[in-house]
Amino acid sequence: MNSKEQTLSIIKPDAVERNLAEKIKEKFLERKLTIKNQKKIQISKEEAAEFYKVHQTKPFYDRLCNYLSSGPIVVMILEGENAISINRKIMGATDPQKADKGTIRKEFGISIDKNSVHGSDSQDNAKKEIDFFFN
Ligand code: GDP
Repeated sequence: MNSKEQTLSIIKPDAVERNLAEKIKEKFLERKLTIKNQKKIQISKEEAAEFYKVHQTKPFYDRLCNYLSSGPIVVMILEGENAISINRKIMGATDPQKADKGTIRKEFGISIDKNSVHGSDSQDNAKKEIDFFFN
């Protein structure tokens, strides 16, 4: 099924810090996703906790929130046919060691914590996450 969608992408602190933002954006553009809106920001730990609320019961939650708020990030609205699933494919598996060759996480990820990118995993979450950062 083909349909134009929007999804939220975040270039996480480890990748911004290593100046990988432009290389990562290239990966999206190569796969026909367009960047509709983008900004470089740093969020507070409280904002990170709100953003990752679905993970609040997980053992890694505190570390995750500290990490996402630890430095500048680039948040983007990506748009294109099946943008949500295409972006997830371009990103690769959560753990860079398990990610397929050619994916962002395989090429640039350092660890399961410092895995360089976030991408919405469903239409519902895409809408919520876009609202969170852009409204
Ligand atoms: P994603 O959609 O692939 O980013 O994965 P999730 O939404 O499940 O998790 C959000 C983020 O939490 C991931 O990108 C990881 O950085 C982190 N994370 C997920 N699972 C684990 C885990 O088992 N251990 C640790 N340390 N971090 C995790």
